[in-house]
Amino acid sequence: MILGAHLTITAGLAAAMDLCVELGGNTFQFFTRNPRGGKQRDMTDGEIQEGNERRAALGVQALVGHFPYTVNLASPKPDAYRFARDVLYQDLRWGDRIGADVLVVHPGSHVGEGVDAGIERIAGAVRHALDGYAGRTRLLLETMSGQGSEVGYEPGHLRRILEAADWHPALGVCLDSCHLFAAGFDLRTPEGVAGMVETFDRVIGLDRIGCLHLNDSKTPLGSHRDRHELIGRGHLGRAGIRAILENPFIRTLPVVLETPVDDIREYADEIRAVREILAERD
Ligand SMILES: [Zn+2]
Ligand SMILES: [Zn+2]
Repeated sequence: MILGAHLTITAGLAAAMDLCVELGGNTFQFFTRNPRGGKQRDMTDGEIQEGNERRAALGVQALVGHFPYTVNLASPKPDAYRFARDVLYQDLRWGDRIGADVLVVHPGSHVGEGVDAGIERIAGAVRHALDGYAGRTRLLLETMSGQGSEVGYEPGHLRRILEAADWHPALGVCLDSCHLFAAGFDLRTPEGVAGMVETFDRVIGLDRIGCLHLNDSKTPLGSHRDRHELIGRGHLGRAGIRAILENPFIRTLPVVLETPVDDIREYADEIRAVREILAERD
C-alpha cells in the first residue's frame, strides 16, 4: 500500500524523503509554496537531483504536491483570480521539474457568484495552465465538502471542468474521504464506498483518479463542513476507514493523511493507526 502524510519540503527534498520513511510512510504530500501564498520555492538542480536519488534509494513511491489554499481559481476578484491562474501555471511546471507525480488543487469558491460562474473561471485557469503542457506531472482537482461557496462537492462539477479542458490527459481528480463524507457520500460501509467509486467511474472515469486524501471527519454525513479528524476518531470511525481502504480500487491509489496533528512527527502514530485498522481483519 502507498501510504503517507502531508509533510514539508522546507528543509529540502532529500530531508523530506528521510522524514517520510522515518514516519513509516512511502509517499508524502507538501505545499508547492507557502500555504498563504508567497513566492515559489527556489530549488537548484543539485537539490532536485539529490532528492530524487534519495527517493530511489528509500523507495518513496509517489510525490504529491498541493497548491496553497489561498489559490482561488473561481475568485470573482480580478487580482485574486490572476494570482491563482499564474500560480497554477507556474507551479505545475515547477512540480514537473522536481519530479512530482501529481499536484492537487482545490477547485475554488465562487464567493456568491454561483456554481456556473465558478466553474467557468476554474476551467479558464485550468485550460491556461495546460496550454502547451507536456510534462508527466498530473494536475488533480480535489473533491470538496461544499463548505461556504466551494465548487467541486459533486463529481459533476469536476466533470464539467474536465470537459471544458477537452479531457487533457494530464488532468484528473483527487478524492478526499472527509470532504466526500461531508458532501453526502456515506463511506462507513463497503457498499457505500463501492457506490462512491462506481459514481466516480461513471462520471469521471477511474483512470483519472490519481490520489486519496484519507481523513476522518469531525462533522456528520452531509454536513458540508470541512473539518478533518484523526484517523478512527471521527464520524467515519475505524469501520469507515477500513471500508475505504479495503476497496480494491482505492487500494491502488497513493493515500495521504491530512489529519489534525499538533506536530508533523505525530503522523507516525496516524500511519500506524491506519495499518492497525487494516490488520484487524487481515
Ligand atoms: Zn484534502
Ligand atoms: Zn479539507
